Amino acid sequence: MKITEHLKNAKSTLFSFEILPPLKGQSLRELLEGIAPLMEFKPPFVDVTYHREEYIYKKHPNGLLEKVSTKKRPGTVGICAAIMNRFHVDAVPHLLCGGFTKEETENALIDLNFIGVDNVLALRGDAPKAERFTPEPAGHSYASELVEQIVKMNQGKYLHEETENSFHTDFCVGVAGYPEKHFEAPSLKFDLKYLKEKIDKGAEYIVTQMFFDNQKYFDYVAKVREAGIDVPVIPGIKPITTLSQITMLPRTFFLDLPDALTDELEKCKTNAEVKEVGIAWAIQQCKELVDAKVPSLHFYTMSKADATYKVAKEVF
Ligand code: FAD
Repeated sequence: MKITEHLKNAKSTLFSFEILPPLKGQSLRELLEGIAPLMEFKPPFVDVTYHREEYIYKKHPNGLLEKVSTKKRPGTVGICAAIMNRFHVDAVPHLLCGGFTKEETENALIDLNFIGVDNVLALRGDAPKAERFTPEPAGHSYASELVEQIVKMNQGKYLHEETENSFHTDFCVGVAGYPEKHFEAPSLKFDLKYLKEKIDKGAEYIVTQMFFDNQKYFDYVAKVREAGIDVPVIPGIKPITTLSQITMLPRTFFLDLPDALTDELEKCKTNAEVKEVGIAWAIQQCKELVDAKVPSLHFYTMSKADATYKVAKEVF
C-alpha cells in the first residue's frame, strides 16, 4: 500500500523506522531478529537505505596502492523482499541518483515493482568520501530528476520509446527534507525552492533529516507550507546512544544539538549513561510531536532497535 494511503487512513501518529542493510559478509537473519520487537508498534512501513560504492586502498607487495571500488552494504532490494515476506509490512527502498545511470534506475524500478514494492524514497545521495557529488555520465544530478523518471514510469513512459505497450508502475515517491537546511544549499529559501521542485515533479511526501530541537521541525513545516508545499512532512527521530555520536551526528548530518541536551550529555562518562539521556530526550521530543499530530514518527535505528523500542514503548 502507498505511504500516502497509510497516512490518510491513520487515526493518530504512526510509528515507522529506517534500517541499514548489513555490512557485506554479515547475515540478514540477525538484522531481522533485531527489528522483530519493533513490530509490536505496528509500523505500516520500514525504510531500507541504499549505500553507493566506496573506495578502499589495497596495498600491493611493491608498496603501490590500488584504489578499489566496493559496495559495503549491498542488498537493499533483497532486504525489502525479506521484510515484506516476514513481517507483512511495506518496505520502502531508498533509491539514489549517485552511482546509477538512468537505465540502471529503470531496471531497479522494474525489479522493485516485480517484488511488490509500492513506495520509494528518491534521493540524490552523497559523494564518495572527500569528493564532490558528480552524477554518472547518463545519470541524474538531483533527486528531482529521479522523481521525474519514476513518475514517467508510472505513466508508462520508459527511457526508450520503443518499449511499447508499457506496463504502468504505480510507485508513491517520497523525498528528503532538511529542517536545518541541506549542507550544500546557500540558504533555507534556496533549499525549499528545490524541495518544491521535487514535489511539483510528483513526490507525495517528505521525510526529514533527524533533528533534536522540535522547534526547528515546527519552523521548517511552517516555511514548507509558506513555500506552497502541502504534502505530509514526516519527522526523523534518532535517540543518541553512544559517546561518539555526540560529535559524529552534527559532523555527519550538519545539525545542532540544543544546549539543554548537550548540558546533560556532557555529564556522561559511558555509553550507557549517554543512552539513558538520549532515550529520555527522544521520548520527550516524540511526546510533543505526537501532541502536535505529526503524521508518523520515523526512527533512524541505524539497525540497532533497542533504543527505538524503549522510546516507542513510552510513546505508543
Ligand atoms: P537533492 O534534493 O537533489 O538536493 C541536493 C542539494 O542540491 C541541496 O542542497 C538542494 O538545495 C540542491 N538542489 C536541488 N536541486 C537543485 C537544482 N536544480 N539546482 C541547484 N541546486 C539544487 N543517502 C544515501 O546515500 N543513502 C540513503 O539511503 C539515504 N537516505 C536518506 C534518507 C533521508 C530521510 C534523508 C534526509 C537523507 C538520506 N540520505 C541518504 C542522504 C542524502 O542522500 C544526502 O543528504 C544528499 O546530499 C542529498 O540528497 P537529496 O535527495 O536531499 O538531494
